[in-house]
Amino acid sequence: MADLSTLASPQANGRKTGTPGHEYSYQYITKRFKAIGLQPWRGDYTQRFSHPKLKKRIGVNVLGFLQGKLSSDKLIIVTAHYDHLGGRGRNVYWGADDNASGVAMMMALATHLIHHSPQFSVLFVATDAEEKGLLGSEQLIASNTIDINKVVFNINLDMVARAKRLYYLSSRPKKDVFHHQIKQIEQACLISRRTHRSFLNTKVIDYKKASDHFSFARHGVEYLFIGGGQHADYHGVGDNVARISPTHFSNRVTVVNQLYALVEQSIMKRDNSIH
Ligand SMILES: [Zn+2]
Repeated sequence: MADLSTLASPQANGRKTGTPGHEYSYQYITKRFKAIGLQPWRGDYTQRFSHPKLKKRIGVNVLGFLQGKLSSDKLIIVTAHYDHLGGRGRNVYWGADDNASGVAMMMALATHLIHHSPQFSVLFVATDAEEKGLLGSEQLIASNTIDINKVVFNINLDMVARAKRLYYLSSRPKKDVFHHQIKQIEQACLISRRTHRSFLNTKVIDYKKASDHFSFARHGVEYLFIGGGQHADYHGVGDNVARISPTHFSNRVTVVNQLYALVEQSIMKRDNSIH
C-alpha cells in the first residue's frame, strides 16, 4: 500500500510521461527495485526511448532483474505500466488503480520471489507510455533491450486493486490444466476466467489488446494478463487511493504470488513435454 500511495500521491501528479511527476515516479520505482534487491539489467535500471506519439517527451521503462535457480537464460517478464494521464487544469488523474496498483503488486511479487528463489530468471519491468498505445513494452522489444526469443512468458498486471472481481486472460489453450488450477484459487479469491470471445462480446474493450501483454503476444510469447476491468472511476479523477481497500489489495497480492507459482510449473511442464 505504501508503494501504491506514493505513486498515486500529489508528487507523482498522475504520472504523465515527460512531466515532473513522471520523473518522481520512475526515480521512486528505481529506488524500490534496488531496495528489494533486484539487479540492474545490462548495467542499467532504466531504458529511455523516444517515439513520434510522445513528441519531444522521453519515455522511461524501469527494469529490475532477479537471477533464477536454473542455469538457462530463459526469462519470465513481469510487466505493469506506471504512466497515467497526469493533470488537466485543477483535475488530477491519480491512477491509483490504473496502474499504481499493478506496479505496487509487482514490487510485492518481487519481494516474495527474492525470498523464494524462483526457477526461471525474472525481469520486472515498470513500463512507460502504455496509455499512449503500449509504447513502453513495444520499445522494450523493438530496441533489443531484451532478446524476445529468450522470453518464455509474460505476466502483465493492470488495475488489480479496485474492481470487485479480479480476472485473468491467458494465451494458454483452453483445456490446459493451468486453467483448472487457477479455478481452484478462484473459489476463494474471486478470479473469474473470461475467454477472448466474451471479452469481445462486451464491445467495450478487446482485452487481448488492452494492455502491455499484447506487445508480447504479437511476438508469439505466452501471457497471463491479470486485471480488474473497468469501474466507475476508470480514467477519472475518482481513481484515488481512498477508494482502495488495503485488506482487499493485500489478499490479491497473495493470489498473484500463487498464480506466479502456477505459471512457473506450467512452463516447466511445457518445456519437459517438448524435450
Ligand atoms: Zn492501465
